[in-house]
Amino acid sequence: MNPYTMSLEDAAEELASTLGVDKTEVKADLEKLVSYSVPMDEAKQSLRRKYGDSGGGGDGGGSPPKTEIAEITPETGNVTVTARVLTVGKRSIRYEGENQTIFEGELADETGTISYTAWTDFSLSPGDTITAGNAGVREWDGQPELNLGQSTTVTLEEEPLSVAHEIGGERDLIDLEPGGRGRVLDVRVLEVERKTIDGRDGETEILSGVLGDETTRLPFTDWDPHSEIREGESVRLEDVYVDEFRGVPSVNVTEFSIVEPIADVTVSDSGTELSVREAVSAGGVYDVVLTGNVIEVRDGSGLIQRCPDCGRVVQNDQCRSHGRVDPEDDMRVKAILDDGTDTVTAILNRELTEDIYDGTLEDALDHARDAMDRDVVAEKIAEGLEGREYRIRGALSVDEYGANINANEFEESGDDPKSRAEAFLSEVEG
Ligand SMILES: [Zn+2]
Repeated sequence: MNPYTMSLEDAAEELASTLGVDKTEVKADLEKLVSYSVPMDEAKQSLRRKYGDSGGGGDGGGSPPKTEIAEITPETGNVTVTARVLTVGKRSIRYEGENQTIFEGELADETGTISYTAWTDFSLSPGDTITAGNAGVREWDGQPELNLGQSTTVTLEEEPLSVAHEIGGERDLIDLEPGGRGRVLDVRVLEVERKTIDGRDGETEILSGVLGDETTRLPFTDWDPHSEIREGESVRLEDVYVDEFRGVPSVNVTEFSIVEPIADVTVSDSGTELSVREAVSAGGVYDVVLTGNVIEVRDGSGLIQRCPDCGRVVQNDQCRSHGRVDPEDDMRVKAILDDGTDTVTAILNRELTEDIYDGTLEDALDHARDAMDRDVVAEKIAEGLEGREYRIRGALSVDEYGANINANEFEESGDDPKSRAEAFLSEVEG
């Protein structure tokens, strides 16, 4: 007998006699827990809870009650949950000054889904049905999340739980949302550049660029540069995670991601046409096309002044970060676009604004000087835009102040508003 078997044997013996239960049963449970990398002490502890509680009574110290996912709130204490593992993502994070490898993803039961973080490798795979005993609940971004840690027991169930959710991380780019873990993508690398950044372990090289598929484009970062990621190449990215960069989802490739060349992926060249409501409820879209009416040109349009250091818009020569500055003139438009489903603020850069104004920045400055009023520029722009329908392509972001789209393209829509309204209605009514 090797020492490992000895200690398991001894522990089972000891537990069986103190708890007054069958040794074979206790030993089988112990073996399972240890195979899930639960330390022996923790394993014994959780079996004491399991068998010690069997006489009923249910006073303190027993395992937490079995809970359905839909019932879990950020205020719920520790729970026991039986659920299907939908996704598993591996990630290295900095925790209390140390690099630590964690596993993250989503679990589902018949009542709903919940995100989880596992601080120990429980060897979870998508499709597994597990019972997580004594899982912690914490709040992340207003939602409850399960914490599977040292004192959690994870048991593999033989009977798969049937759930109404996709198992595995395969997604189209358009379906990615910040917080997504263990995602699997088939994409083409549209742009990529190598950068040196100041990482958590000093200077490090990363790749950053843009990925595309049939549904949309998204920015990405590869924190552990993979040679397969080259401009124009199509690749399958396994185990990537999604966070948010400037209000839109961003794909993160890591040392744990698997990158494999695949056959050419078709990339949509046209941007994703969405209603404003769809784009806003997606939480941001990197490359979207919206069509709607400009109902108002907002304050802060026309001639503006920016800090020469940080580019922030300044008033009375005062920058929020740099104090008194000698500002630079610029032009922009902030227009409210309404497509009948919702509104969004469209932000047009100098180039697009000059087109609409039908003159250069110099012309606009002359115009303001002659009129002795800078507002005349914004007034002329508003006259041209308000009440007309436009097609805008750009990056839509959503933050606590609302939704903005930074336009790359802005043109008057040739569509007949009546036929568009009919098309929209037929879509809504199915
Ligand atoms: Zn500044």
